[in-house]
Amino acid sequence: MFIYYIILLLVTVYFISAFILVARSKNRFRLEIMGFIFQILILLGSFLLSCLFKNNFLKRFFIDTYFVSILWLLFFYSYFLQKLTNYINPFFTKHKKKSFRSETFQKILAASLAIADTLFVYSDLIFNHLYAPLIIPSVTNVFEYVKPVLLPPYTIHIIIYSIFITNICIMTVRKIFGSEKYYRKIYISLLLTIIVLIYSNFAFLNDFFRVDLRPVFYIYMCASFTIYIYYSFPKDHRDFLITEFSNDIDSAIACFDFERKCIYANQKAQLIFGQDGNTDERIGQYLATSWIQDFVENNSNVITGHDTFTINGKERHFFVTYRKFFDKHNKLTGSFLRLEDRTEEIEKIQKTKYKLTYDELTGIYNRHTFFEKCEELLQKDPDTPRYMIATNIKNFKLLNDLFGSKLGDSVLIKQAEMLSKANYPNTIIGRISSDKFGMFIKCSDFNADLALANTAKIETITKSLNYKLKIYIGVYELMLQSETAVSMFDKALLAIKNIHGDYEKSLAYYDMTMMEGLLKEKNILSEFPRALKCNEFKMYLQPLTDKKGKCNYAEALVRWQHPLIGTLSPNYFLETIEKTSYIYALDTYMWELAAKKIKEWIDAGHKNFGISVNISPKDFLYGDLYIVFTDLVEKYNIPPKLLKLEITETAFMTNVETTMEVVNSLKEYGFTIEVDDFGSGYSSLNMLKELNADVIKVDMGFLEETTHKERSQSIMKAIISMAAELDMNIISEGVETKEQLTFLSKAGCKQFQGYYFARPMPISDFEQKYMGGMNND
Ligand code: C2E
Ligand code: CA
Ligand code: CA
Repeated sequence: MFIYYIILLLVTVYFISAFILVARSKNRFRLEIMGFIFQILILLGSFLLSCLFKNNFLKRFFIDTYFVSILWLLFFYSYFLQKLTNYINPFFTKHKKKSFRSETFQKILAASLAIADTLFVYSDLIFNHLYAPLIIPSVTNVFEYVKPVLLPPYTIHIIIYSIFITNICIMTVRKIFGSEKYYRKIYISLLLTIIVLIYSNFAFLNDFFRVDLRPVFYIYMCASFTIYIYYSFPKDHRDFLITEFSNDIDSAIACFDFERKCIYANQKAQLIFGQDGNTDERIGQYLATSWIQDFVENNSNVITGHDTFTINGKERHFFVTYRKFFDKHNKLTGSFLRLEDRTEEIEKIQKTKYKLTYDELTGIYNRHTFFEKCEELLQKDPDTPRYMIATNIKNFKLLNDLFGSKLGDSVLIKQAEMLSKANYPNTIIGRISSDKFGMFIKCSDFNADLALANTAKIETITKSLNYKLKIYIGVYELMLQSETAVSMFDKALLAIKNIHGDYEKSLAYYDMTMMEGLLKEKNILSEFPRALKCNEFKMYLQPLTDKKGKCNYAEALVRWQHPLIGTLSPNYFLETIEKTSYIYALDTYMWELAAKKIKEWIDAGHKNFGISVNISPKDFLYGDLYIVFTDLVEKYNIPPKLLKLEITETAFMTNVETTMEVVNSLKEYGFTIEVDDFGSGYSSLNMLKELNADVIKVDMGFLEETTHKERSQSIMKAIISMAAELDMNIISEGVETKEQLTFLSKAGCKQFQGYYFARPMPISDFEQKYMGGMNND
């Protein structure tokens, strides 16, 4: 009997201490669990007391209390369930949260039902309507267990009880179907306890057992719940979240115990090490990898490194960290392996590296790398004779415009392929810019014929399109050791520049004069404005004479008195200047000098001494020459016939009509019009029909010694007689010898210009030589 008191005491102590523990904890279900334990205490207490008391009324009171406490237990249970549900739900399920109102309404309803039932059960103390006590002979003389033989009104209590239990069941079942997998586990275990409870009640109502065993079930339920909610649930919940979290991060994670056995591996780690049953073993084995192994043995805390694994057939790169944990006494407690996937970053770096090194379209070196590699080679081996070769596609833009960039691209790819064929050792190829390629090759490896044959193959791409594709090749042979690869390439390109326009030629070698030409042009253009402003351009005069050398007038020829270089003839700079609008500035400057000089001579008494000036074909583009010349003669008040205008026949090749119109109106105004360099162009005879010129200056090219001397002489004769018929004067330019003069005079020419008589000279020389002479006449 003593033992029963001990058990009773232990159970009471257990529940009271559980109650205190819960009350003092910070568990979020603290209140519910306390209510729970409290109810269990009452339930158990009343049940035991009902057995202890011999007094009929008290016995009945405790039995009734026992009945009531079961209902209140359920009330707290459903209350707790509701809270648990609410706690889990908002985060993990998309169920609409019930309105606050309906929730309070439900609570009030449940509480009123419980209160009503309480009153109903306790009224049994007066009416004795719930059961008739059937006293079961006690096992000991302490307990007198009363088995209640239920009377019909008890059904009401059963109904209310059933309402509570049904509600709990529905709530739980709904949660089982409506929750995340992980929470389903909780609700299923809840349901199982409830089923046990229902069974215990069912057994009680149907007299399965001699005694009411329900308190045992309630204690079991309550104890397991307290433990579950108090210890397991928070731990499970945390584990669940940590697992979720560790699976969510991009790294593979594995944890090891102090024996370096793998105790946890996240999904990514399982993916890397295989997902069969041996994963953990394999992860453990990974620590034996040579570079980790050394570290595993010694006592440092962390090691990092790189490693690659093949996942789903693709190689991936990882940054590996292995860290050990020690306790206070420096004993290994566990370790941790982390593999961070760096594949994307590494691929990106490799891609950018590729992009920085290679040309994306053709896959050969890009400009930067090409020159870099050339420089490297030059440093390593400066003495081998080498060629820098440039290729350029003629009218590449036009090709793209006509047939689309796809075709253009295929031409470029083909070209890169052809260049790649020359894969002799130490040959470097690269794409320098859109349609320009470079090749740096040993002279002994280069075969010009093969290069031409290869480009010819590329050119066949557009054959079916009826488009003549042409690829130029420029070759520069290394001359200066100190030269940069870029400048070598520029020279190879310059060689190409020299072929442009030549339909037969595709390959050219660079020679020195090409570069000089380029530099010269640059200098001329940069210096021109200053030179013009500083009056560095001088007017030289060359006399036009009869056969005896008597001068009628002079031609103004420009000379550049360069402060450093000296006197420069127009051959040196004129072609360059004619490429820009500077030519117009220079010519208007020269015309003004001429007009001014004529005026000076008139004022000095030489009233019939004229000057002829040169007009460049380009001048017609930049100004209205009619206005310019008429303004000029008006400004200096000179007769227009003294200002003779030399227009080369090429001026009439473009814009024939307007040029013709301007020239004719100038003639009408009274200027003398001279056709310069007659015979050097194409349209000579045709032009003479239209143009009413006064003088024809026959190009000296006719008189140069040629193999067809006789033929040229007969042409000259024909021109002279034709001019006479057209009422035009003929001037022969470039008379250098007595024979020429004799021949021309015999042919009927009356005016001459040439070194035979005089070279172009400064004005002062001219005035001294010819003006004096005129005065003497
Ligand atoms: P051009 O108009 O045919 O001028 C005649 C050129 O023949 C001059 O060359 C002259 O020095 C040269 N010459 C004269 N007699 C002989 C000779 O017996 N033998 C040889 N071999 N050459 C002779 P220059 O002065 O060097 O002028 C070259 C060209 O430059 C001129 O050819 C002319 O077209 C152009 N030019 C000169 N000054 C001017 C100018 O102020 N404006 C423009 N637009 N062109 C000019
Ligand atoms: Ca001339
Ligand atoms: Ca001429």
